[in-house]
Amino acid sequence: MVVYDNYMRILFVTSEVAGLYKLGGLGDVSRSLPVALRRLRVDVRVVMPYYKKIQLSSVRCVGRIAVDFDGKRELVFVFVSVIPETSVPVYLLRHPKLDEYHEGEIVEKFAFFSSSVARVIEYAPDTFGGRPDIVHCHDWHTALVPLLLGERNKLRREKETLESIRTKTIITIHNLLYQGTAPITLAKKLHLPKSIFHILQTKKGQTIKLFREGIEHADIISTVSPTYAKEMLTGDYGQHINDALSRRKADVLGILNGINGEIWDPVHDKFLSVRYGKNDVVSGKAANKEYLQKTLVLPITKIPLIGFVGRLEVRQKGIDILIAALEHLLPDGVQVIILGTGPKKVKQTLAAFETKYPEHFKFVPTFDERLARRIYAGADMLVVPSKFEPCGLTQMIAMRYGTIPVVRKTGGLADSVVDGKTGFVFEDYNETALLAKLKEAVTLWTSEPKKWSHMALRCMRQDFSWTVSAKKYKKVYQRLLINT
Ligand code: ADP
Repeated sequence: MVVYDNYMRILFVTSEVAGLYKLGGLGDVSRSLPVALRRLRVDVRVVMPYYKKIQLSSVRCVGRIAVDFDGKRELVFVFVSVIPETSVPVYLLRHPKLDEYHEGEIVEKFAFFSSSVARVIEYAPDTFGGRPDIVHCHDWHTALVPLLLGERNKLRREKETLESIRTKTIITIHNLLYQGTAPITLAKKLHLPKSIFHILQTKKGQTIKLFREGIEHADIISTVSPTYAKEMLTGDYGQHINDALSRRKADVLGILNGINGEIWDPVHDKFLSVRYGKNDVVSGKAANKEYLQKTLVLPITKIPLIGFVGRLEVRQKGIDILIAALEHLLPDGVQVIILGTGPKKVKQTLAAFETKYPEHFKFVPTFDERLARRIYAGADMLVVPSKFEPCGLTQMIAMRYGTIPVVRKTGGLADSVVDGKTGFVFEDYNETALLAKLKEAVTLWTSEPKKWSHMALRCMRQDFSWTVSAKKYKKVYQRLLINT
C-alpha cells in the first residue's frame, strides 16, 4: 500500500478525464498526471461533473450540498468512484445543469460547477476525503474556483485557527484560446458583488472572462510547455488577458505535458492489427499501414502515408495551411488521412478533396479512438501544422508509435520535436513552409529508408513519460505549501 505525504493533499478540478469523458488533451492530462503524482506519494483526487454519458460500474453517493445559484437553492449530489484502470479517486457532481457538456449555456454551467466545488471544499470537505491543501484547476472551465475560495478565505481569515489555513490554488492553462466569456450578470447568478470581477466593456455590454479571474486569483499559474509560457507572456492573447498575465509574470511557469506510456504503447495496443516494439518497428508499421489502407479503402501501395489526428479548429490547428498544402501535395504520390471533428465548412472542403483524390485522400469526420490509434501506428508521418500549440500530445504519441512528426515550431511542438533528429520542424506559418517540410520528409522516406527507420527508432526511444513532469509539479506544490 502506498503511504501518501500527509501534508500534501491535492484536488484536481477539471471538465474532462480520459476513460470517463474526453474531448481532447485536457482529458489525457487529467487522467495521467494524477496517476504519476500518486506514484510520487502525492494524494491527488479529481473532481468533475457527472455527465449523463459517463458510464461507471462501481460508484456511490457520498453526500450532497446546497448551492445558491441564480436566486435558487440547488441540490448537488456528490458521487465517488475511481478513474477506470487506476486507483485515483474521482468525485462526480450530479445536477441537471451538469448532465450534458455541450447543452445549454456552457460558461454558466461551469461557473455553477466551480461554485459547487468551492462550496464542498468550504462546507463539507470530508465529502472530498478531507480539505485539500492545494486546489489545482484546469482551464477556464474551473478558473472561478480560486476566486470563489479566495473571497470566502478572506472571511475565514478573521476566525483563522490552525485547522483552517488557507487552501492554495494553481491554475493550469491548457489553451488560452477559450477564455470562458460571460455577461457580468453571471456575478449576480453567483450571488457575488460585481465589484470583485474584472469587467471588460465590449460592444455586447459588460463582460467577464473566467480565465482572467483565475489568472488574477490563483497563487500559481502554470501552462503545459515552457515555450508556450514564453509565447503567452509576449504574444497577443487579447487585451483583457495580456495585462493580467504580464502583471503576474513572476508566478507563471511552463511544465511540458507527458503521455501515459501504458495507454499509448504499440506493444500492447489492443486496437492494432499487429502489435510491435522497437525491435520490429519496420515490419510492425508496414502491417498496420496495410491494414489502415485496407479498412479505409485506399489502394494498398508503398507510398508515404501522412496522418492528422485532432480537432479541426481553424484558429489553432493550422487547418488553413494544411488545406492549401494538400492541393499541391495530393497529386504528388502520397496518401493522406485526416481524422477530426470541426466546423461544417472545413468538413465540406475536406470531403471535396476525397471526391477529387479518392486514391490519395481519406477524411473521417468523427471522434474515433480506435482509428486514431490505427493512424498513429499505420502512418509514416503525422502532421501537426498548428498556428500555436500549448503542448500538443499527438506528436508525442506518434513518436511513441515510431511515426515521424512534421510540426510547426511553436509551443510544446517546439519543446518536443528536434528538426532532423526526431522529426521535421518548420517555422513560418504558411503553406509554402509546410509544403517544403512535408516534401523534405517525403524525400527522406523515399530515398533513404535506412535513415528513416533510424529516425523512427530515435523517436521511439524518447522519454515522454509523465514521471519527469510529475516531479516538477510536486516541487511546485512543495514550494507553495512552504510559502503558506
Ligand atoms: P487538443 O487538446 O488541443 O485537442 P492535443 O494534441 O493536446 O490537442 O490532444 C489531443 C488528444 O485527443 C489526443 O489524445 C488525440 O489522440 C485525441 N484526439 C483528437 N481528435 C481525435 C479524434 N477525432 N478521434 C480520436 N482521438 C482524437
